[in-house]
Amino acid sequence: MLGLMQDHKLLVSSLIEHAAAAHPDAGIVSRTVEGPIHRCTYGDIQRRAKQAANALAALGVQRGDRVATLAWNGYRHMELYFGVSGMGAVLHTVNPRLFPEQLEYIINHAQDAVLCFDLSFVALVEKLAPQLAHVRAFVLMTDRGHMPASTIPGLLCYEDLLAAQADDYTWPDLDEGAAASLCYTSGTTGMPKGVLYSHRSTVLHAFGACTVDSLAVSRNETALLVVPMFHVNAWSMPYAGAMSGARLVLPGPALDGASIYQLLRDEQVTLALGVPTVWMMLLQHVAAAGLKPIDELALRRVVIGGAAAPRTMAEAFERDFGAFVVHAWGMTELSPVGTVCNLMPSHRALPLARRLDVQAKQGRAVFGVSLKLTDDAGQRLPHDGQAAGHLKVRGPWVARAYYRDEDGPILDDEGYFDTGDVATIDADGYMQITDRAKDVIKSGGEWISSIALENAAMGHLLIAEAAVIGIAHPKWQERPLMLVVVKPGQTLEREAVLHYLEGRVARWWLPDDVVFVRELPHTATGKLHKAVLRERFRDYRFP
Ligand code: ADP
Repeated sequence: MLGLMQDHKLLVSSLIEHAAAAHPDAGIVSRTVEGPIHRCTYGDIQRRAKQAANALAALGVQRGDRVATLAWNGYRHMELYFGVSGMGAVLHTVNPRLFPEQLEYIINHAQDAVLCFDLSFVALVEKLAPQLAHVRAFVLMTDRGHMPASTIPGLLCYEDLLAAQADDYTWPDLDEGAAASLCYTSGTTGMPKGVLYSHRSTVLHAFGACTVDSLAVSRNETALLVVPMFHVNAWSMPYAGAMSGARLVLPGPALDGASIYQLLRDEQVTLALGVPTVWMMLLQHVAAAGLKPIDELALRRVVIGGAAAPRTMAEAFERDFGAFVVHAWGMTELSPVGTVCNLMPSHRALPLARRLDVQAKQGRAVFGVSLKLTDDAGQRLPHDGQAAGHLKVRGPWVARAYYRDEDGPILDDEGYFDTGDVATIDADGYMQITDRAKDVIKSGGEWISSIALENAAMGHLLIAEAAVIGIAHPKWQERPLMLVVVKPGQTLEREAVLHYLEGRVARWWLPDDVVFVRELPHTATGKLHKAVLRERFRDYRFP
């Protein structure tokens, strides 16, 4: 027997329609590539998304066509989020930090029909354009006054395209299983792979993000999206924002500590989201400039994900900003939110040091994501906080295949996707990533967590960043080598680092050597690039 409820589809267009009806005046603040701060509302975004849909239809864009963006966080990007998906085309957000060869591969693999891009990327697109076989129209996301002379064939101006169109448009009644957006993994191992989100998965994931035990996005927040809209839909914030009416602050290209601090202060941001590397820049700026964020800012929560948030980072935000760090874990294949670290009643009375131990974990699975841990043979491991194993996930916003590789099996017999992460899960359900499977250090048949070593080192006052890789060892198979970046103007000895780590990690985990480096390589999504480090230290031998 079927239920008798209305059969409304979960579509991306329904999000912006809701925003325009329920909170049309809630604000979207953007720092533009052109310079000034731009202010508009969800109502404006809805009208202009409709103009964009009309403009793309006039360019010949059909349902299912891919429309790519190479753009920072800004209002025009947000209009395309809703305009492109809303009309039934597929929004393909491209990460401009990738190498040009990867960009060329991705745009050709996706067979993008239109490429919309910010002024910052004119030179890049000039170089790429001759190689982009499928792109029929290049659209520069600016106004007539900022259009440069360019070799890009038939370059179009976004504002001109919109100005020629009416803002009445009826969103098509799509299949909720239809593709809405496309994002490629950054391909640190092999070629990037395309994850194709559906309207249904996008809307369900936004519901998930709004729940209180997840990101708790609501009308009461002013949210700064440091996390880029060019990678996994900025952790759903444009959609969750439209759903909830949160005021959004979009920082454009300026992600340095001073610019981010200025936005936090001037816009009285309450919730900020980003990867650890940007927060590291912010904390360094605050220390160097002698600022007093706790007196000047309204920041209540900082969501940190994409890479492990060091315990000291949570401590610094709490002490200096009066802000609570919400540690979260996810990945492109998960839309991306998988687990979020909010506290339970039993944690409230804990002394700060013990509470920070909890916050260093990546958190509990939100509804919609089931987790399991297995050993190498696929047998389930207990959730006892001790057993570390392969982390596998399943749920309505988890990928079941990659784009244009639909037959490549990526799920196990129970329908779980192997994340490539190694983790523990405790009895309360708190998951803690110990490593990427390929980064784990195998020493004498046991695993050493490179992340735990890095986090321990980053507790040292003089250490800005640390990375640990496994180096081949004749007796133990592999042993840890630690690479350390010292804070500006400071010096540190190898013995002092090892001494500091003693007692903070198991004795047999202590690195066999510490090497000081000026900086560490990061991927296009802000993670330590260990493949590059392993290559660089391939011939290294322990003293
Ligand atoms: P890519 O870099 O290929 O685009 P994603 O951005 O999807 O990949 O990153 C997913 C991976 O990032 C996860 O599998 C995990 O290894 C790592 N990651 C994400 N969040 C965290 C976190 N909070 N702590 C540790 N690792 C994390």
